[in-house]
Amino acid sequence: MTVSAAKRHPFVQYFADLWSGVTTTCTGLRLTLRYLFKPKVTLLYPEERPAIPAGHRGIHRYVEEECLLCRACEAACPVDCLVINAIGRGKDRMILNFDIDYAKCLFCNLCCEACNPKCLVLTGDYDLSTTKRDTCLIDFAHRKTSAQIEEHKKFLEQKEAEKKAAAEKRDAPKECGEEGNGSN
Ligand code: SF4
Ligand code: SF4
Repeated sequence: MTVSAAKRHPFVQYFADLWSGVTTTCTGLRLTLRYLFKPKVTLLYPEERPAIPAGHRGIHRYVEEECLLCRACEAACPVDCLVINAIGRGKDRMILNFDIDYAKCLFCNLCCEACNPKCLVLTGDYDLSTTKRDTCLIDFAHRKTSAQIEEHKKFLEQKEAEKKAAAEKRDAPKECGEEGNGSN
């Protein structure tokens, strides 16, 4: 039968507490000594960075020059956090924004899997620490000045007008021919 702490003589209790303090300190020190000579598992982050394993799903890499503007990535995104804003098509395209909102992104890789030319991939970069939610929105497209955008719009308008004129010219003899046939 054990004597409860309340029933112990104060003198006995004093030495019991002293012994308990010594043994628990020794237990803690034994654990410290066991790890003291083992290799460190911690890093002095951010000065020291961990090696990221292959296949890690981190921040995207986007190569605008190779992008076809097919929008397959945009359609594949389950949370609509990838938004492309562009003018023109084909080789006349100008990508104004290629936004990914990392406050919503799931790093699911569906956008990259949908990308045929593989100009959108997930990388090992992971540092997205920020104190502001709006800085989680990253635009991967190259910056374009308003003058460049206006110039490209004019170019597209001109090209469209040329195409229309060429189509009218192509159809004109047919219409004349039809009229000629009708008068006979
Ligand atoms: S990784 Fe997933 S959630 Fe993030 S942008 Fe791509 S499809 Fe959307
Ligand atoms: S799927 Fe690839 S090629 Fe198509 S718009 Fe997205 S990034 Fe560009």
